[in-house]
Amino acid sequence: MAGTVEQNIMPSPIKIEEDEQQNVEAIRALKAKYGKSVIVLAHHYQRLGVHTCGDVTGDSYALCKAAASQQDAQHIIFCGVRFMVTSAATLCRPDQTVYHPDRNAGCPMADMANLPQVMRSWLELGEFTDTKKVVPVVYMNSDLDLKAFCGERGGIVCTSSNARKVFDWSFNRGEKIFFFPDEHLGRNTANAYGIARDQIILWDPHKVNGGNTAEQIINAKVILWKGYCHVHTRYTAPMIEEVRAKYPGIKIVVHPECTEDVVKVADAVGSTNFIQDYVKKMQPGDKVAIGTEVNMTHRMAVQNPDKFITPIVRSLCPNMFKISTRDLRDCLEQLDTWEPVKVDPREKYFAKLALDNMLSCAG
Ligand code: SF4
Repeated sequence: MAGTVEQNIMPSPIKIEEDEQQNVEAIRALKAKYGKSVIVLAHHYQRLGVHTCGDVTGDSYALCKAAASQQDAQHIIFCGVRFMVTSAATLCRPDQTVYHPDRNAGCPMADMANLPQVMRSWLELGEFTDTKKVVPVVYMNSDLDLKAFCGERGGIVCTSSNARKVFDWSFNRGEKIFFFPDEHLGRNTANAYGIARDQIILWDPHKVNGGNTAEQIINAKVILWKGYCHVHTRYTAPMIEEVRAKYPGIKIVVHPECTEDVVKVADAVGSTNFIQDYVKKMQPGDKVAIGTEVNMTHRMAVQNPDKFITPIVRSLCPNMFKISTRDLRDCLEQLDTWEPVKVDPREKYFAKLALDNMLSCAG
């Protein structure tokens, strides 16, 4: 059993196919030709072949830090989804260029909040509370104009790695947090922070005042946007019970974009970097079921052949999956003509304030 993943629910092969291997070799040759002038950043949810080609791999926080600190690289190729790529383009130096191997790779959760909705909600909040005392906190998984909205109002960007520190930072500066667009990361962080249930309210952007009464808004400490990740909300508490019944002694580790019901029954919760470290620290023969994107679970099974690693159920991010080794190879081969990622200068200025706040508060 050790070193496998559950075949009945995850039949796809966990290896790099032959044609992909040819792309991987071509990518390595191209990278050797470019030397230090090119760097490839790859998110943990990328397919095995793409992830293998990353000079830096990690969660969105780690990759943002990497983009902000590149000394030698002139060209940064980002294998991830759009919100990560525009954040990297905001944080890198003006003389550096960021490329996205597939510009169609977006994020449905990021699309659950847009600037007009957020601005209207902010005005509605202002009818009941002094918004100077509200800190806008935007999850990394958001468009750049929303990061700019936060930067302009003294707010901050949050990731699943640093959410607790961002709450500390925010409550040192204000009385309420307006958190968007992921309800669940916000709720799980607020729960772990010990905020009373009646002081956490849900803001539905399709309803007047988010669907809340004046009293609820005045009493709230954390206001959560009604958005979610379909990859992580797929897991349920009964699924975890089923896995535990099937594999006695198995540990359950999940991502904080899962619902609070799932987080409550898990053994551990954390970002993709946290999950990776958790698995690394397990003993040979240990068993773990993972509640995050299945390509990452696949890869951890390959990298930890002495442990039993299974997804709680198979849940794939179709957008992360869009980037193939072929796309990365094309991007490197056609670097001279590949369209670089462009960001609006005003958005970049204010978004950088919120991203810099994130980098400085999390250390
Ligand atoms: S896993 Fe969820 S939050 Fe991450 S990119 Fe995919 S849809 Fe967006």
